[in-house]
Amino acid sequence: MKLSERGAIKSAIADGGFHLYPAGNLLKIISQNLGGDNLEGDFDVSTTPEKLSRIEGPSDPDANELFKKDLAILTGRLSVMEANYDIEAVFDHMSGSLKNLAKRYYGIEDIEFPRPQIVEYYFEGYSDIYKDADWSAFNVNSMESKELGIPVGIYFKRSQVAPGYPELVTMHESNHVMQEHTAMPVGYHSYLPWMDEGFADCLGKMMLFRATEDEKLLGKIKTFRTELEVTDQRRVTYHYGEETAILTLLRARLPFARTLMAVRRREPFSLDWNVYANLIRDGLDPHVAIIKAYKGNKLETFKKKIENDEKQFRSEGDLDQMDLRILSQAIATQPPATLEASEYKAALWLVDEVEKNNVAHFVDPEIIPEKLRGKIKDWTCDVAIAGSKLPAEIWEKVPEAKIKTIIHESAVPEKLKSGVDKLSTMYFVIKRKIGSDLYYEPYGGGLPYRLGTGEIRCSY
Ligand SMILES: [Zn+2]
Repeated sequence: MKLSERGAIKSAIADGGFHLYPAGNLLKIISQNLGGDNLEGDFDVSTTPEKLSRIEGPSDPDANELFKKDLAILTGRLSVMEANYDIEAVFDHMSGSLKNLAKRYYGIEDIEFPRPQIVEYYFEGYSDIYKDADWSAFNVNSMESKELGIPVGIYFKRSQVAPGYPELVTMHESNHVMQEHTAMPVGYHSYLPWMDEGFADCLGKMMLFRATEDEKLLGKIKTFRTELEVTDQRRVTYHYGEETAILTLLRARLPFARTLMAVRRREPFSLDWNVYANLIRDGLDPHVAIIKAYKGNKLETFKKKIENDEKQFRSEGDLDQMDLRILSQAIATQPPATLEASEYKAALWLVDEVEKNNVAHFVDPEIIPEKLRGKIKDWTCDVAIAGSKLPAEIWEKVPEAKIKTIIHESAVPEKLKSGVDKLSTMYFVIKRKIGSDLYYEPYGGGLPYRLGTGEIRCSY
């Protein structure tokens, strides 16, 4: 199939490394700057990057500078991307493993999965309810099929397809098919978002890894979640559900999760599902939470039934160490601190200076070990040592001198001064006095570490 511009851009964003947080907002900026172009047209390896590189971007000069850096990363990736994407090969690969996975995680034998289909619009000619919806894909189960007059199946909207994502989406949607057999009450449409989406997401990720063993793909999917999905309010609520499902699985494992699904199917109104979710997030053991969330008046019978369920499911297998690793990787990542463009630029400058330009700045005199201080002319604890005066031998023998690089306030370029000062009031950088002079110490507030781990990003 032909990729859309939107899909290609999303895929490039999911490779990470952008200054903007969330990087998914680049789509919004690009679309606005192109006069509302929804980017649903075909991606082309030369015209799309060209079209993007003509974008002016934000009018604030600091923001603009950072936008241009991000745009360069984006167009660089797009200019080597294939315009034709073989999604059918992805479907083949995934469907080859689904039967075994359904058995392993849900205890389901002999299940048929619909082959996912690519549609231009959702259900044109059937129902307008999902038309033009921004979903990557979704599953229409038999109850929805009856209600909406849409054939049962898994549907991908072509303009939303982004390489790196259909693998998980296929697994996620196939989990909904498995849930129909194990967790859905019979006879009516029932949707419990935290449970349906939460388990589809976290079991889907475990299944994905079992089918592909692709660490890079797993990393990319995490970036989809933290950079792209957070720009969509509906998808944000999925993360809430996934967290509840993960905590259930980590604390009580798969046999208990299957018990929970069996209760949902057998007696959906005997539990207050919101109470259960809240108790899990409060930290309770799932076995305690399910009892506290019970609403019926036959508690003893209920307890016996779920004990039997769990015992039976326990005899059918559980998660292993690899599943637990995938689960823990999917645990919510806190959003980073986002600095304004002028502060972020100042942060980049400070980190660059201490990484690449130590000799141009100063070193905290206290860091020099006593036995080496004699090698430095006029050493005193009240005078910062100019990096250029520090003998090469000391730079080599005292690696900590590098992280004690301090920058004299007069060395900060005029246009970065207010940003650097703001960083020091935020304790990302320490401002200190040695003798009568003021210096900034980037490592003092851990700034290079915070930028390196992505704890600090930029908003523009
Ligand atoms: Zn879903």
